[in-house]
Amino acid sequence: METIYCPVCSKAISSQADITACPVCSHPFNVQEWKKERAKKVEEKYGSLKEELKTRTKVQLIDAYNKQKSTGGWTFYDENDIVQRTLENRFNFLLIAYTIFLTAYFQPKIGDYEKLVILFIGLVLVFLLFLAIFRTTNRFNITLAIVHSLEDDDVSPIIHDENKKRHDSWFNKFGRKNSLIGIIIPLIMIASFVVGLIYHFFIKGVTK
Ligand SMILES: [Zn+2]
Repeated sequence: METIYCPVCSKAISSQADITACPVCSHPFNVQEWKKERAKKVEEKYGSLKEELKTRTKVQLIDAYNKQKSTGGWTFYDENDIVQRTLENRFNFLLIAYTIFLTAYFQPKIGDYEKLVILFIGLVLVFLLFLAIFRTTNRFNITLAIVHSLEDDDVSPIIHDENKKRHDSWFNKFGRKNSLIGIIIPLIMIASFVVGLIYHFFIKGVTK
């Protein structure tokens, strides 16, 4: 079953629908005219745009989003929301885990062997959490790229464009694509455990 889109309000409708006008904006229903109008609009607006996605064109993406909206289903924004919350939760957990291990390490009465055990367990846990965070970061960058690529009058593209225009300095570009909480901070944490282990094994010495 083919879906076509109202050229005025972008409502998705089956090409075989038994109606005379768009149920949302009352634009007269005509399969051939709608297809032609849609192709024209798409060509005008998106013909020259660089495609950021690897598996879908911008036009397919926008058509999919219109379908999601018109059926009242799960949209790209909902998915983006969930992935962002997952990323935040995992990062918060990483912060807590790291703080606990760091606090344990610097307790005054902890011996060298105990410190080694703390460093080792901490390294393993933080590394596993880093893998989980890294995967969610990749996913979040995809959902962000998608919502940024929707039609120009959608929420995300407007804010994204405005933000890019206003904050164009190198400082604001640093850490884009969520690399700060997704990669850099977890790697600093991992590095600190590795430095601790090297210190105990090679500089201070394990044996008393
Ligand atoms: Zn319409």
